[in-house]
Amino acid sequence: MKSSEGRLTRRRGMSKRTAGMDCKEFMRLIPIWLDGKLDGKRGVRFLEHMSSCSDCNEELHIQYLVKEGTARLESGGNFNLDKELSDKVTAYRKKLGRKHTENVIIYWMEAIAAVAIIFILVLVFMWM
Ligand SMILES: [Zn+2]
Repeated sequence: MKSSEGRLTRRRGMSKRTAGMDCKEFMRLIPIWLDGKLDGKRGVRFLEHMSSCSDCNEELHIQYLVKEGTARLESGGNFNLDKELSDKVTAYRKKLGRKHTENVIIYWMEAIAAVAIIFILVLVFMWM
C-alpha cells in the first residue's frame, strides 16, 4: 500500500487541465463520485475529464477497486469490478443526460409561467 500511495502522490503533482477540470480536482472528486454524490455541471466535467485523461481514468479504476474490492472480499462474494465500474459510468452518464432534459423542461415551464403572469397583469391593467 505504501508504494502505491507514493505513486498516487507523484501523479497528483503533475496536473494537466482537460475539459475544464484539472487532474487535481478530478482526484479530489473521485471519492465523492464513488459515493454517488457528484451532480450537475461538476458531474458533466468529471465525465469529460474521465474520457479524455487516461491517468485519471486509471486512478478512478484503482480507487474503485480498493473501495469496492475490500468490501466485497469481506463479504466473500465473487465479482467483476471492471465491468461494474463501466456499468456505473454508463448509468451515471444516462442519469446526467436525463437531468439535463429535466432542466430544459423546468426552464421552459418557468418561461411559460412568466409569460402567463405578464399576460394576466396586462389583462388586469386593461380592465382598470
Ligand atoms: Zn486527469
